[in-house]
Amino acid sequence: MERGKKRAIYPGSFDPITFGHIDIAQRSLKIFDELIIAIGDNRNKDPLFSKAQRLAQINEIFSENDAVQAVMFDGLLVDLARQLEVFTVVRGLRAVSDFEFEFQLSSFNRKMEPRVESFFMMTSEKYFYISSSMVRQVASLGGDISDFVPPNVSADLKNHRR
Ligand code: ADP
Repeated sequence: MERGKKRAIYPGSFDPITFGHIDIAQRSLKIFDELIIAIGDNRNKDPLFSKAQRLAQINEIFSENDAVQAVMFDGLLVDLARQLEVFTVVRGLRAVSDFEFEFQLSSFNRKMEPRVESFFMMTSEKYFYISSSMVRQVASLGGDISDFVPPNVSADLKNHRR
């Protein structure tokens, strides 16, 4: 990638990626030239899709958009930031309940790596209620999740259920 571009990392589990995540990614590109979606695992949850599957889903969704790149990572976000030399982190906020966790996380990250700055984008009113965990739950019970995730993810969720 070229130097001088404003780059940011958008980290998360994205298990699976939803329209809420995609909206944050697209809107963040009004501010940043390039966005690196970094797919990690949440230690408190067993993943539904492997990181490789999530990477494939995200690559397909953004295949027409050169400004978005997806990577998998293990370990600390600050280590990924140092490795990529990208110290700007984008996160989405849905509700007050997200705030406390995000506040603590961003403070921890900045303590570990003072160059890291986190940027928070407010969810759009269209997507504020969407979460990956709710999508997983509804899909596992056979519900229609096509309003919440793109068609490729919807198909993967259906296959997973079978
Ligand atoms: P994590 O497991 O790290 O919370 P997620 O994949 O659940 O990762 O979410 C990644 C980021 O995207 C978080 O900042 C989260 O708040 C945000 N996010 C998730 N769903 C939405 C949504 N519907 N609208 C806006 N932001 C969202």
